[in-house]
Amino acid sequence: MTTRWQQSMMDNYGTPTLQLERGEGAHVWDADGNRYVDLLTGLAVNALGHAHPAIVEAVSTQIAKLGHTGNLYVNEPALKLAERLLDLAGEPGKVFFCNSGAEANEAALKMARLTGRTKVVSTIGGFHGRTMGALTLTGQEPKRAPFAPLVPGVSHIPFGDVAALEAAIDDDTAAFVVEPIQGEQGVMVPPAGYLQEARRITAEHGALLVLDEVQTGIGRTGTWFAFQQAGIVPDVMTLAKGIGGGLPLGATIGFGAAADLFKPGHHGTTYGGNPVCCAAGLAVLDTIASEGLLEHASSVGKEIAAGVEALHHPAISGVRGAGLLLGITLREAVSAKAAAAAQKAGYLINPIQPDVLRLAPPLVLEESDAQAFVAALPTFFEETP
Ligand code: PMP
Repeated sequence: MTTRWQQSMMDNYGTPTLQLERGEGAHVWDADGNRYVDLLTGLAVNALGHAHPAIVEAVSTQIAKLGHTGNLYVNEPALKLAERLLDLAGEPGKVFFCNSGAEANEAALKMARLTGRTKVVSTIGGFHGRTMGALTLTGQEPKRAPFAPLVPGVSHIPFGDVAALEAAIDDDTAAFVVEPIQGEQGVMVPPAGYLQEARRITAEHGALLVLDEVQTGIGRTGTWFAFQQAGIVPDVMTLAKGIGGGLPLGATIGFGAAADLFKPGHHGTTYGGNPVCCAAGLAVLDTIASEGLLEHASSVGKEIAAGVEALHHPAISGVRGAGLLLGITLREAVSAKAAAAAQKAGYLINPIQPDVLRLAPPLVLEESDAQAFVAALPTFFEETP
C-alpha cells in the first residue's frame, strides 16, 4: 500500500496509516477487515456516519434523475437546501453554494471586499482553509510562511481577547472572521460572551461579522449552528464538512444586507449547488431532525467529557469543547503516540496538537461505543515494551 501511494500520490498528508474499505454508522473497516470506531470522521466531515441509508437513497435517486447542469439554471434540491438552511438559521438571508470550506471562506473574503473597505481581521490560531485567501485568514504561521506573500489587508489578533478586538476593529474594517470554537488549533473554546462582544464591536463599526462554522455547524456542537448558543446572528456564516454528508458541499450564507453583496459576475464555481450534493445536504438536515441527532450529540458529548474527567488519569489535564467536538488535553506532548495506540485498539482519534487529542465523531455515535472508548482511553497512554 505504501509503495503504491508513494509512487502515485503527492505527500500532502504524511504517510497514510490505513487504507479504508467500507463504513457503516460510526464504524469503518480497513482493507484487512479490521473494524474501527471512527471518532474522527475524516476531520468532522460526516454528520450521519458512513453509508447512511438516507444519503445513499438521496444521492442515487438524484444522480439517476439529473446530475449537474451548471449554474445558469437552478434546481429544486439547491433551492430547497438554501431555504432549509435559512429556516434553520432563523434569519432572512441568501446562500451561495460551493464545494469546500476553503471555498466558502474565499467567497466570504470577497464579500468583505465588496463592502468597499479593505481591512480584514481574523484570529491567531484560527483555521479557514488552504487556498490563498483562506490561508491568509488562517492564523497558523507554519502553514502560511512557505506561501508568502499572501493576500494584503488581513491582520490577526489573539482569539477570545475582547480588548484586542476593540483595538483592531475600526471604521475601515470590512470584516472580522472567526470560528465559534477553534477546531484545528485544538478545540479552543473562547471565554463566555466573546461572540456577543464580537457582534457588538463589529456592529458598532459597520464591519461584517463572519463566522466560520465549517467545523462547528450542522449539529456538531449540539445546535444547528454554534452561533445559536450565543444568541447572536452573524452577517456571514460559512459551512462545509457536515452539511454534505460525505459529499463535497460548502455554503456561504449572507444575512441581512450581506445577502446582496454579490452581483452577477462577481463570483461563481462550476459545481456549486449541484443537485446531487444538495440532495445529500437535504438528507443530512432531514435525518438530523428525524433522528434527534442534536440532542444525541449534546448528550453523548457530555457523557464522554464527564467520563474522561472521571478517569482522573495522570496523563490527561482536561477536556473541552461542545457537543461532539471535543479536545482531550494532555499534560505532555504524547498525542501522536496515544492516537497510534488507539488505532491499534480499534479507535480512530486525531492528535490535533502535540498535547491535544480531538474527537469529532459522526453525530450518530452510539453511547456504547462512546463508553467503550472512555474505558479504553487509559490504555493508550501505557508504555508499550
Ligand atoms: N474552516 C474550518 C473551521 C475548518 O476546520 C476547515 C477544515 N479543517 C476549513 C475551513 C477548510 O475546509 P476544507 O478543507 O473543506 O477546505
